[in-house]
Amino acid sequence: MKIAIIGAGISGLASAYYLNKFKPDAELTIFDAEEKAGGKICTISEDGFILEKGPDSFVTNKPACYQLCEDLGITDKLQSINKRPVYILKDGKLLPYPTGFLLGGTVPLSEIMMSPVFSLKGKMRFAKEPFIPAKADDSDESLADFLLRRLGPEAVDYIGDPLLASIYGANVHSLSVNSSFANFAEMEREHGSLLKGLQALKQKMKASGAAAKKTPFYTFRDGMQVLVDTLTSEIRAEFRLNTAVESVESRSVKTADETFEFDHVILALPAYISSQLLRDSAPDLAELFSGIEFLSTAAYVIGIPKSSFPEFDGTGFIISSRENSRIQACTVLSNKFDNRCPDDHVLIRIFLGGHHLQEQLKLSDEEHKRIALEELSKVWPIAKDDIVFDSFYRWENAFPQYNVGHKERVSAIEASLSTHNGLHIVGSSYHGVGLPDCIAGAKKLAEGI
Ligand SMILES: Cc1cc2nc3c(=O)[nH]c(=O)nc-3n(C[C@H](O)[C@H](O)[C@H](O)COP(=O)(O)OP(=O)(O)OC[C@H]3O[C@@H](n4cnc5c(N)ncnc54)[C@H](O)[C@@H]3O)c2cc1C
Repeated sequence: MKIAIIGAGISGLASAYYLNKFKPDAELTIFDAEEKAGGKICTISEDGFILEKGPDSFVTNKPACYQLCEDLGITDKLQSINKRPVYILKDGKLLPYPTGFLLGGTVPLSEIMMSPVFSLKGKMRFAKEPFIPAKADDSDESLADFLLRRLGPEAVDYIGDPLLASIYGANVHSLSVNSSFANFAEMEREHGSLLKGLQALKQKMKASGAAAKKTPFYTFRDGMQVLVDTLTSEIRAEFRLNTAVESVESRSVKTADETFEFDHVILALPAYISSQLLRDSAPDLAELFSGIEFLSTAAYVIGIPKSSFPEFDGTGFIISSRENSRIQACTVLSNKFDNRCPDDHVLIRIFLGGHHLQEQLKLSDEEHKRIALEELSKVWPIAKDDIVFDSFYRWENAFPQYNVGHKERVSAIEASLSTHNGLHIVGSSYHGVGLPDCIAGAKKLAEGI
């Protein structure tokens, strides 16, 4: 059996790895347009600074990524993320952020009630949540509408927007709650209240000892590239890198120079690229793929001497799009992870994307760097001359948008695909954007072929 995998990001690589396991006789060919495998996973190591262009860690409450590391025998290369506070920039000031929502979605109400992030009025509204009647049906709505109904407007502006939706690189007002935080909607249905549901989850985790067992996030000591490098060395397949696929027709794969025939073709690509490849051969399917919107992002990473950086105990800060800032968030990478830069330096990543900053992304790299520094210097006294290392990068169409109705859109794609014998999809555009989601999707696909 001959199988083509188009795209050597984590979804394509994990598909190949599990196909090797489940279908050992299958002959695999992996195509990728770039000269290196890994897709969004890309670690840069330079002059003692280690930075990630894409994902910098993965969650363990969804087990597929950790499980893959176990299968590959590389759990000894993992590193926990340092437990430090997170801050939010509000009205120009850094305020400690109640991290409960970050750590497995178990936020104690007391943590929110003590927090300076929310007004008294906002807190009173939170306290009413258990008494708000549950929604009568399970129809989809935006995360903003869900939070507004349950917890009021401050939950939208200071929890949904800067924290929850930003995991999806999404706009809280269009992000589908059923596709992103289905557990929240389920808690409402099951317990009649989000806060009661979160409390029940917390007790369940406490009773099972689950929370204490594992760190909630892992990275690799030498960067996420370790996962890609290990996979590429383990996988038995023909790698055709630097080879963009131009079109797919039935089970024929066409590059600029050749046409190849396969029994199965796996599109491990962002949906908009799958749409381009199928434009002529399957226009209906192409149209469905193009219904998934994408947003772009950029980041400026700077290394500065510790002596130029004020005392700061946090891993960084997030920013609501309500705050009049031209940056989206900032991570102090050297506080979040160990060994990311020389001991006497600090490494900082400033995010310049976000749904509200898409227009700004049209500016040049130099203008972005200037904006990043101007905004950062409002928080910390950092000057251009302090910078000893820097790297600016962009991701065009980085984040698939799970807009309201996403589940139905994906079901329609899958229904249409079932009429195209041997054509398959996997990847972050469909059933979850995180690395564990992509890997779980790849494993399921490999089992099913
Ligand atoms: C900035 C950023 C930060 C993130 N942070 C995290 C995080 O901390 N934790 C986490 O779990 N997730 C994170 N994510 C999400 C996660 O990284 C992605 O969802 C995941 O890596 C996507 O993998 P993929 O294989 O589905 O797609 P991709 O990585 O996009 O791979 C697709 C591949 O297809 C190739 N390709 C494109 N066109 C063609 C063509 N015509 N022919 C052949 N090949 C082609 C590309 O070169 C690429 O290698 C982040 C994403 C971004 C952008």
